[in-house]
Amino acid sequence: MNRTEASDLATRISQTWPRGIGANVWEDELVDLEVGRAGTAFVKLRRTARSAPSIAEFFEMYSSLHTEDRSTRPDDCPRCDNQGTVATMIRTDSGAEVWGPVSACSCEWGRRKADALAKAAAWNVRELDRIFPARHDTPSAPPVSAAEPISMF
Ligand SMILES: [Zn+2]
Repeated sequence: MNRTEASDLATRISQTWPRGIGANVWEDELVDLEVGRAGTAFVKLRRTARSAPSIAEFFEMYSSLHTEDRSTRPDDCPRCDNQGTVATMIRTDSGAEVWGPVSACSCEWGRRKADALAKAAAWNVRELDRIFPARHDTPSAPPVSAAEPISMF
């Protein structure tokens, strides 16, 4: 979407959740997205979210929506069923078969999911650096991990 569309949607989001993230921050995050799908994500979150959504929650909703534009919709993936993630069975030392770590699928769905999560994680790092500027150089700083919201990876 263009800057004006991003600004309009950012304003609607920040008016819906006035105590949440500011419109200027939303605008920067939204400008790279498809306008129709981002609008749908906003409407769905407005109907379901119990509190102001984080950027990560917005991107999660956004990436869960199938784009209306068939030309940009990736081919169906039988490996991950278009979820973008796959898990494999692994055998433990004791011989039990259990599910191993979840990882991004090698398909376009997986690439998009990984992109969205990387963007959310990068935003978290910037935000944590802003809130806890000394978190990298103070041994006694609380263990704040930017990866927590995306522990599925
Ligand atoms: Zn896949």
